[in-house]
Amino acid sequence: MTNPARSPRIAVSGAGPGGLTCARVLQLHGFDVTVLELDASPDARPQGGTLDLHEGDGQVALKAAGLLDRFLELARPEGQEWRTLDAYSARRLDVRVPAEGATERPEIDRGTLRAMLLESLAPGTVCWGKGVASAQPLDGAGCRVAFRDGSSEEFDLVVGADGAWSRVRAAVSEAVPAYTGVTFVSTGFEDADVRHRALAELVGPGTMMARADGKGLCVQRNSGGYLDCAAMLRVPEQWRRDGFEDQEGVRAELLELYGDWHEDLRHVLRAGERPLLRRPLYALPVPHEWRHVPGVTLLGDAAHLMPPLGVGANLAMLDGAELALAVATAATVDEGVRAYESVMLPRSAKYARDCEEGLKTFLPEAEAIA
Ligand SMILES: Cc1cc2nc3c(=O)[nH]c(=O)nc-3n(C[C@H](O)[C@H](O)[C@H](O)COP(=O)(O)OP(=O)(O)OC[C@H]3O[C@@H](n4cnc5c(N)ncnc54)[C@H](O)[C@@H]3O)c2cc1C
Repeated sequence: MTNPARSPRIAVSGAGPGGLTCARVLQLHGFDVTVLELDASPDARPQGGTLDLHEGDGQVALKAAGLLDRFLELARPEGQEWRTLDAYSARRLDVRVPAEGATERPEIDRGTLRAMLLESLAPGTVCWGKGVASAQPLDGAGCRVAFRDGSSEEFDLVVGADGAWSRVRAAVSEAVPAYTGVTFVSTGFEDADVRHRALAELVGPGTMMARADGKGLCVQRNSGGYLDCAAMLRVPEQWRRDGFEDQEGVRAELLELYGDWHEDLRHVLRAGERPLLRRPLYALPVPHEWRHVPGVTLLGDAAHLMPPLGVGANLAMLDGAELALAVATAATVDEGVRAYESVMLPRSAKYARDCEEGLKTFLPEAEAIA
């Protein structure tokens, strides 16, 4: 039930893990909140791979959202296993098997996580197909949102949780994401335990990773025997920008680039069943900071897009929960937002720096493929 004493109108732009967690915790504390989402419906597009949610951040957010037990029922603790393979021999260099009952970082399919968060919200909270075009702070009193459909609406607080290419970000900062030097090419295998047994056994119950010479390969088991795969390449931003519809041409180029890798690993590139998808990685400058603007703030990738080294969704959810809790406990919404930003900005800068360095260690710039 909404507490009438708490009447600020709050809009969250984006129904990703960060925005939905924020909305859920706000509702638990009696606030009115609307989530504005660009996608036309919950299943307008597949949500993609798997996420490990950590005890120190993602799970802290789920606890604040009252969803930790449900998450642990849905998650795959066995997915915490991590194998590092030698690129040329496919020999196991390192295998990290989780201890019995360990829940430090269980995996969950993104789609399952999103469905769990959506189910936890009051009916009608998410306005599907309501893409935000821009956010305009109003002189010390809220923020006007302009929508892609030409309409507009005013709110006391607008939370930009609209991801890498946030349309709210410009209200607080001029920063734009820059190419990291790394592009992923993704594909996947359905029902791998039956149809691609050798690969499924190589990968095991969790994540398999290999790297050599400016290239990497990551395969992650999702639920239902699906294997989510990414070739990782340190290549120029323009690499294969045009002509990706020539899938066989891309496949041939990848097989050539990975020519000296072991055949069992090249199988991913040769036989990947899902269309090969080009995914250049972008990141915001580090640190990305802004001077507080009343009526608007950011969380998750909108605030601190960083290379995907396994923390982005965790931080987005932690941001969402902490922002909601700060607003719920402060004397005013604005004081709550200031308190949140004073913790979130330095924390995310530290993680962003680590991820920037981590990406350079994993795929050194000196090994860039021309
Ligand atoms: C290949 C890859 C692997 C990754 N692996 C991991 C991992 O293992 N662990 C981890 O923690 N993180 C991982 N990440 C990072 C993680 O995906 C992101 O950090 C996380 O999804 C950010 O959550 P978010 O809620 O801020 O934004 P998003 O998840 O990007 O959600 C944004 C939402 O806003 C909507 N939207 C966009 N524009 C608008 C608009 N104009 N108006 C309204 N709505 C809009 C989108 O449709 C979307 O629903 C990975 C990222 C990549 C690319």
